[in-house]
Amino acid sequence: MKMLIGGEWRDAADSAVMEIRNPATGELVDTVPAAGEADALAAVQFAQQGRQAMAGTPAHVRHDALMSVAARIERDAEDLAALLARENGKTRREIRGEIAAAIRIFRGYAEEAKRLFGRVTPLDTIPGLEDGIALTTRVPRGVVVAIVPFNYPVELWAHKCAGALAAGNALITKPPEECPLALLRISGYLAETALPANAHQIVTGVGERVGAALVRAAGVQMVAMTGSTATGRAIAKAAAETLKKVHLELGGNDATILFADTDPAAAAKALVKGRFSSGNGQICCAVKRVFVQRPIYDAVCAAVLRETAALRIGDPMDDTTDVGPLITERAARRVEQQIAQGVSEGATLVAGGRRDGNFITPAVFTGVRADMAVFREEIFGPVLPLVPFDAIDDAFAMVNDSPYGLQAAVFTQDLATVMSAYRRLDVGTVVINHPTAIRVESLPFGGAKGSGNGREGIHDTLIDMTEARTLLIPYAFAGSAEAAA
Ligand code: NAD
Repeated sequence: MKMLIGGEWRDAADSAVMEIRNPATGELVDTVPAAGEADALAAVQFAQQGRQAMAGTPAHVRHDALMSVAARIERDAEDLAALLARENGKTRREIRGEIAAAIRIFRGYAEEAKRLFGRVTPLDTIPGLEDGIALTTRVPRGVVVAIVPFNYPVELWAHKCAGALAAGNALITKPPEECPLALLRISGYLAETALPANAHQIVTGVGERVGAALVRAAGVQMVAMTGSTATGRAIAKAAAETLKKVHLELGGNDATILFADTDPAAAAKALVKGRFSSGNGQICCAVKRVFVQRPIYDAVCAAVLRETAALRIGDPMDDTTDVGPLITERAARRVEQQIAQGVSEGATLVAGGRRDGNFITPAVFTGVRADMAVFREEIFGPVLPLVPFDAIDDAFAMVNDSPYGLQAAVFTQDLATVMSAYRRLDVGTVVINHPTAIRVESLPFGGAKGSGNGREGIHDTLIDMTEARTLLIPYAFAGSAEAAA
């Protein structure tokens, strides 16, 4: 497939291409342009026209365009799911869920485009400005660059794409290098809407090259990126040169706490789903650290091992598969190395942990200490470490003792424990009696510390992708008393 710059489906200026391969089989799915700085700068230049045109595009047109994209995605859902499964390797069941979420997200932002309200402020709070009034509305930021990770590309991009366009910006998308094809396909749907020329462009290629060029570009007002914390830091530093707004949704090492009043069998099912059979273990908010209160620790470990043994690992296109491959062999080797480090640090590997190509068999660790790397670092693959605890304060302290703070989950029937967790855990969302691997598009999603610097969600993103502009009229009512008399 080609990329879309200036309204044309193009190759890279230097004709470079990159291969897109099926992570499960190694099969070549397609090639895309490997864009460079010249392509990025061309897109930024065209986006200046797109920005002007979008600023004059009424909300009802933006609404209708996003609704029509949602309808196209819905119509082509099975085709898109098949394409995404081939390039991304998630199970078909998971991918159908992702496509369904993207449809809801496009519709949600379409509706929200009609709710960009402003406010009117009387100025009689200030001596001398008694006759004044001001009105403040939200205006688009201008050109937004969306940088998308590989794991849930369609769903995560939907927030950035529909959000930016609903708010009246021009958008340039940098899709993940491993799996850009579904986003290219949906970009074709966007190009057929009534949105103006250059409202949306998509530039494929390697992040450090074309992504970095977009981040540096002076004609870009905002970068909305989801990905690893290391990349987020590099982007924030590069963007500082031009003082552009940066919204970062980054890594996580989410904790789940099981209190002693939890049913071990039900909790084990939830943990295994939230760690192994969602996204093949590659989710920012997956169950990455588990704390189990001592009285149920042995029962939970036994139930987790039973559930893990029942998982079916293999072809993601087979509807009975629970766990597919990691995105690349490099990613699988990295997880293999993290598992080996856990063993060398003294943790006990009680299940799985073997690599075969891009596949890792779901791994369970016991005997883990909170200071081990297997516990402290984000592992982007199917690895589940279990740690016992005694007192609530110990569990909360270990959860907060992390460079990340995306989500945390608490399993308990006790309301006081729930409220205490909500107040004391330093994370963006506390989930109750459900694993952390959940995102609801209408809620503000995002984390504290190394997990990012904002919240993304249908309402929040629209505010984020606009800025306030005020009309200040100090003497608006001067003379109006006489007129009324
Ligand atoms: P990544 O950081 O390697 O890549 C993310 C995107 O950034 C890709 O499109 C990549 O091409 C681009 N990129 C890389 N270097 C760049 C640079 N210097 N300048 C501009 N762009 C650059 O992440 P990944 O491996 O695709 O995704 C996995 C990570 O994403 C994990 O850490 C995971 O926790 C995180 N993630 C977070 C969320 C969230 O909402 N918080 C959601 C999904 C994934």
